[in-house]
Amino acid sequence: MSFCINMPVRLYTGEGVVRQNSAEFGRYGKRCLLVTGKSSAKLSGALADVTAVLEAQGVAWELFDKVGQNPLLSVCHAGGQAAAAFGADFVVGIGGGSPLDAAKAVAAFGGNPQMAPLALYEPWQNPALPFLLVGTTAGTGSEVTRFSIMTVDETGCKRSWGNEQSYAKAAFGDPRYTESLSVDFTMSTGLDAVSHALEGYFSTEADAVSDLFAIEALRLLLPTLKDAWVSSQPPNPQMRARLYDGSIYAGMTLNRCGTTFCHLFGYPLSEQQAVPHGYACALFLPAYLEWCVPLMPQKAQRLFRAIGMYAAELSDQIAMMTPTDYTPLSDSELEALMARCKDSTNIARTPGAFSTEEQRVVATRILQKR
Ligand code: NAP
Ligand code: FE
Repeated sequence: MSFCINMPVRLYTGEGVVRQNSAEFGRYGKRCLLVTGKSSAKLSGALADVTAVLEAQGVAWELFDKVGQNPLLSVCHAGGQAAAAFGADFVVGIGGGSPLDAAKAVAAFGGNPQMAPLALYEPWQNPALPFLLVGTTAGTGSEVTRFSIMTVDETGCKRSWGNEQSYAKAAFGDPRYTESLSVDFTMSTGLDAVSHALEGYFSTEADAVSDLFAIEALRLLLPTLKDAWVSSQPPNPQMRARLYDGSIYAGMTLNRCGTTFCHLFGYPLSEQQAVPHGYACALFLPAYLEWCVPLMPQKAQRLFRAIGMYAAELSDQIAMMTPTDYTPLSDSELEALMARCKDSTNIARTPGAFSTEEQRVVATRILQKR
């Protein structure tokens, strides 16, 4: 059995990890740009902890709090300009996947302030600024991945990038920061992590180690999310810790395997209708299982034994937790998605011969509710 592990991020998880590892915040220079969304960094308590440790380390900081959900490339470009104008030596991203992904891009633009926004997707001249990440959702696993997903202003479409410079120097996962998340965002972000683990487990890129992470992620995430959904109550601290660990394990799988058609097909719902990313991806997981299980029956059985559920129960549980109150795509919107499938790595990573015809069948069934 062969496998490959590349996880260059120094990862600290558990309660109090930011203040316990304050020296990390003094290692990369004396001026720092903080990249956040509108309110999550403050609400979660993470901003107060980070500014306290920066000040204790004698680091001057400035706040860039303009990152929205599904971050715009232009906003990240502006963040890079802000970093350069402030003379930032390093960047700290605080938030869910949106601010964390944005911080990766801000660090790249901060090191290359002359670079045009779309040049992010080409090789750059200067190194990116070093950056640290502090998570406030248990979902994307962006803390440990090289991926960063921007919404390109001109097209309104999401486009991923990532390279050896888009890994954080260190990441901090304190599950207490997720306690201010609503039940709804807890569910949607948790389902994003479930998608990373399940898509990765059956992807063409999977290996022995990514499988281990995927199975452990699903063992932590599925029962905990189900309990939260059934009770409609915010998870207790133990459940928060399980969700956070699950999202990090799923991020390890994601970093190795990337995502498949579930993420690609979910993008139009987030881009055009603001369906939360995790819900948009999870809508396709039952169809993904339907497609993958017959292709890899033994591998599927290993998973089902480990999580104590067979395909039908797993699909039903995911469907139960995933809202379906989106507007069906028009024919032209569906055609635009079909065009995106051509040459898509998400399609290439989907196992088996997932033909154009099969793609259309699945997309139509779910996105047009036919
Ligand atoms: P998010 O877009 O970062 O945040 C969703 C909402 O939750 C925002 O309103 C945010 O507020 C709020 N929020 C976040 N943490 C909170 C907290 N602790 N308390 C209260 N409110 C909080 O959600 P996400 O699902 O974590 O990230 C989604 C993005 O990540 C998408 O753009 C997706 O494409 C990307 N993604 C990246 C990767 C990767 O590997 N890099 C993988 C999957 C997905 P604020 O607006 O104030 O922050
Ligand atoms: Fe995702």
